[in-house]
Amino acid sequence: MKETGLYIHVPFCRRKCLYCDFFSGGASVADWNAYTEAVIEELRQRVDELTATPSTLYIGGGTPSLLPPESFMRLIENICELTGKKDSWEEFTIEVNPDDVTPELCAMWRGCGVNRVSMGMQSFDDEELRIIGRRHDSAGGIRAYNILRSNFSNVSIDLMFGLPRQTLDSWRMTVERAISLRPEHISAYSLMFEEGTAMTVMRKEGRLSFPTDDECAKMWEMLSCMLKRAGYRQYEISNYSRPGYESKHNSRYWTSNPYLGLGPSAHSYDGDRVRKSNPTDLRGYLAHYTGSNPDGRWFEEECLGDEELMEEYVMLRMRMRMGADLNQYAERFGAEAASRLKRNAARHIKDGSLEIADGHIRLTDSGVMIADQLILDLLM
Ligand code: SF4
Repeated sequence: MKETGLYIHVPFCRRKCLYCDFFSGGASVADWNAYTEAVIEELRQRVDELTATPSTLYIGGGTPSLLPPESFMRLIENICELTGKKDSWEEFTIEVNPDDVTPELCAMWRGCGVNRVSMGMQSFDDEELRIIGRRHDSAGGIRAYNILRSNFSNVSIDLMFGLPRQTLDSWRMTVERAISLRPEHISAYSLMFEEGTAMTVMRKEGRLSFPTDDECAKMWEMLSCMLKRAGYRQYEISNYSRPGYESKHNSRYWTSNPYLGLGPSAHSYDGDRVRKSNPTDLRGYLAHYTGSNPDGRWFEEECLGDEELMEEYVMLRMRMRMGADLNQYAERFGAEAASRLKRNAARHIKDGSLEIADGHIRLTDSGVMIADQLILDLLM
């Protein structure tokens, strides 16, 4: 039986960050009871989709740290009961916003089995945080981190580069501060301009200045060098950890392992060909799962063909530093497909951006910088 994980999407935030296109918002009018009951009902209806008792649980969002303690405890109690979970979680992560972290909440999360916390820090520069619309400032982030540090032995922080008015110096300061806190895990993302976000509109209207592509590439290089020197290993393009602290749950997504996602906009995968996605519609979700007739499915389903599976395999595996396993690829998609992959890799192996080692094709340090282009070339 394949190991599996469970993801819960909490679609509420106190206020919308200007760059964010996640399905989230409306915390001030959230009906936490209705939301909690709906997630429990969804699990009740879909628990048979789990291929085994889940070993990882990830509560993301949105802002899960806004969940009131009684809702959080009720949710976890029901998850354990419905999935038959009796032992402790191999990994149970909650995403938190610095402004919400208190010693009391940490004690409650720990009591419910949380053993990993991921905090959205983004920057240690107050002006940058203010411009992107974050609730916290740098001092608040450090205060929250110190509370988490004294409660959890596995803490991750998120950082962002390419922010408005960010400079190479301010980014160096952010990375230095992050390293000085000694988190077990750091995720670092480049600011993306998603359609419809306030940040994208402001950029189009020329109301903010952003680092150039060249500067962003330098920020990225700086990050990689500094984290490597500090003992972090880049195990996925945007994710760095101390040895043994790679995210087990997120690694499922990149290695095509099954997971069940609950809540509006959550995704699920059966580990084979079927992907499911819940609509991004909170009202519809609550009406469906808390209504008088909550039976019947409330997700869209897609069955992947061979070509799509191959594409996914290459796209996801090549983002990981371990790369694509050539034997496994040949077993799944045939010898001809594996030869094509090697043929497509040949010129990039020659120019030093890809390498074959231990039966895997993978990105070299210079290849990581142009990963998107390399992945497209491999899929030709
Ligand atoms: S807290 Fe996270 S999910 Fe909420 S608006 Fe900001 S970036 Fe988006």
